[in-house]
Amino acid sequence: MSELLLQAHDLTRHYAVRRGLFQPPATVKALNGVSFSLAPRKTLAVVGESGCGKSTLARQLTLIEPPTRGTLKIRGVDTAGADVKALRREVQMVFQNPFASLNPRKTIATTLAEPLLINTPLTAAERQERVEALAAKVGLRPEHLRRYPHMFSGGQRQRIAIARAMILNPGIVVADEPVSALDVSIQAQILNLFMDLQAEFGTGYVFISHNLSVVEHVADEVMVMYLGAAVELGDKRRVFAAPLHPYTQALMSATPALRAADRRERIVIHGELPSPLNPPSGCAFHKRCPRAVARCASEVPALREVDGRQVACHVV
Ligand code: SF4
Repeated sequence: MSELLLQAHDLTRHYAVRRGLFQPPATVKALNGVSFSLAPRKTLAVVGESGCGKSTLARQLTLIEPPTRGTLKIRGVDTAGADVKALRREVQMVFQNPFASLNPRKTIATTLAEPLLINTPLTAAERQERVEALAAKVGLRPEHLRRYPHMFSGGQRQRIAIARAMILNPGIVVADEPVSALDVSIQAQILNLFMDLQAEFGTGYVFISHNLSVVEHVADEVMVMYLGAAVELGDKRRVFAAPLHPYTQALMSATPALRAADRRERIVIHGELPSPLNPPSGCAFHKRCPRAVARCASEVPALREVDGRQVACHVV
């Protein structure tokens, strides 16, 4: 069995969309050949503007839909043609809005026990024991288990959602903006909870976030995405200390730094993220890039190794 939890190779997802009654369908290229791996106890942060392919990637990783091209292995097992139901237990998801993701009519005990009832042969007493143990680990008290989601604050609801994701002890958790709906004062507590659970259970996280301060706090590796493709991928410390891709540089320059020594000159990128229905030729970033040269408009830059990370840019 592979040591790696996730291996994505050339993961691609295109959608056919109808443009009008008499026009042929068009193709939305939502994800274009993304490759990465994830080891136990590691966190890969996926960063980019909304529309960059992060949510499509999450749907691929949680096996909600198959890729159009490329392969995805979970613990070394190719998901194509595998027993997807069994593999789904290995990948659980935590969403941005914990209220919408919890059933308002079910007590917390029922919500947490349900996956065990469906997926394991545990007895009622064993299920209760596991629910109580995990609830305590995420900071819930025994009396909380009898309550309903609306009786909790946003931070507590996210603790419940995290407990539900962890109840089957999955190898991988995909967390999609899991703290962006919470008060800033609560965010650090929830991030620390993620990290404590990872240390205890060895879980690998794919952490989707537009907030680079959050990413800096939790990530081991960072993948910066632009219009469905990775433009920079590597060790967090390297990428944060010296971002190489012009898009990564612009994202980082827009993040307010607390320490004056870390402040970077603001790089403003003009224009909107192009439509994946009609992506620009060459480098997808060339119409907004402050460092674009002539070949950027016609030649797609390949990801290549530069200074210990991978970068897709002609001038780096
Ligand atoms: Fe900018 Fe060209 Fe590099 Fe793309 S390839 S990021 S347009 S310099």
